[in-house]
Formats: sequence, structure tokens, C-alpha cells
Amino acid sequence: MKSQKFKVRFNYMEVCLKPLSTTGKFSKVVQRKCFLPKDHSGKCSEFHFLSHLHTVKSSVSNKIRRDSTHTTGAAWKSSDAGPNRIFRWAMLLSDEELLEYGLDMSALKPGVQLKLREKAADYDSCIEVAIKLTYLTYNMAGAPTPPDEIKNYLEAHHGSFDLGSTKCEICQEPLNFALFNEAKVGRAAIETCHLNPRIHNAQNVGFGHRECNIAQGNKTLEEFYAWIDGILKRASL
Ligand SMILES: [Zn+2]
Ligand SMILES: [Zn+2]
Repeated sequence: MKSQKFKVRFNYMEVCLKPLSTTGKFSKVVQRKCFLPKDHSGKCSEFHFLSHLHTVKSSVSNKIRRDSTHTTGAAWKSSDAGPNRIFRWAMLLSDEELLEYGLDMSALKPGVQLKLREKAADYDSCIEVAIKLTYLTYNMAGAPTPPDEIKNYLEAHHGSFDLGSTKCEICQEPLNFALFNEAKVGRAAIETCHLNPRIHNAQNVGFGHRECNIAQGNKTLEEFYAWIDGILKRASL
């Protein structure tokens, strides 16, 4: 059972897990749930931990929701380039099942199919990623201060806040919250990045500079460092 698995992974905090009613194309693929602490007061909520960030900087909270739950699709538009954004958990379905949802994987180029499949992740992992990214955001220098309720929730998952501790996962330079405002050619200066681009879970995600993320490309961080190291050795006189 999915919820059982979730409880094991969140054993450091008991969460509500009451089912939420959702609509939309893939609403039957997963049962979306409430992630507020067990026995919470008020309405159930899936992304309550983003509620404060949403009021102070909705572009950032929307980015966190989007990056944690959706694949990043092709930036170009053509019929075989694939859907631009799709739920990561939908990519766990078979080609036959996806066809029932109107997505014909066989019509896409093999490379595009592979890329989409690499972005697959189960629902619980996506929520864990969103919690991690929210935690990292609040620990950037210049970040807004969350209400205690949200701070406590995030600390229960990832430890005490340490303002200014969030670094680019790739170059290790500290990231400032203000970087979310900087965009070049319509793309944010901060991107969600993966230590291993083929694994989407809380341990494997963080934020990075757009330039760094582009440089890392499809390599794991380890492979990327080894590559840089090789270049530096060959280039040094
Ligand atoms: Zn609830
Ligand atoms: Zn960087």
C-alpha cells in the first residue's frame, strides 16, 4: 500500500495523509494526500509548507511545486518533442497505460522518451523533494522568515535552520534568495538540480546556478567533478 510505504519514509514525523479530492487528467494515477502533521487543526492541505512562501513570493513557491512534481519537458515546440510538463508519477505508467491518457509515447523520438522516463518519480518522493526545496529556500541568505509553524515542520524533516547555509549543489557557492529575481532570456538564475540527473528524491535534489546546472548536463555530480579535474590537469602548465 502506498500510504504504508509513506509512513515508513516519514517515520520522523506523523503526517495526516487524508486523501484529497483532485481533478485533472492524471488524478486517478495517484491519490493525493494531506501532509500537515497528524491531528492538525483546520483544513487538510497538500503543500501547506509552501503557503507562507506563496504569499511573499508566489513565483518561487510555484517553481518549487512545478519542479518537484513535474518533468521539465522540451523547451521547443513540435509534435514529437513531447509534452512540455507532465506529472513525474505519470512517467511510471507503461506506454499502454499512457495511451489511455492520450499520450502516445511511441510517437516521440527515442531520446525524448528516454528523457521523460528518466524524470519519473513516485508521488511521495515528489512531496519530499518539495519539502526539501522549501527548506533550502528559507535557508538562503536574504530569504523571508517563515512563521514558526512552517519552520518547525521543515526543521522536523531537515534539521535546524541555518540562514545562509544553502549553496549551489554544483559549485558550492552560497545562493542568495535575490537570485530568484534574476533571469536571463526568461530563465531563472537558480534552477533545481540533481546530484544524479536520473534520480528525483529529497537526498538527490537541491538548488544550483543555472550556468552550473547547464555545465553539469546529464552527468552525475561525481562524473562532472572528475571531468573538470581532468580538464584542469591537462590545462595546467
Ligand atoms: Zn489533513
Ligand atoms: Zn553554482
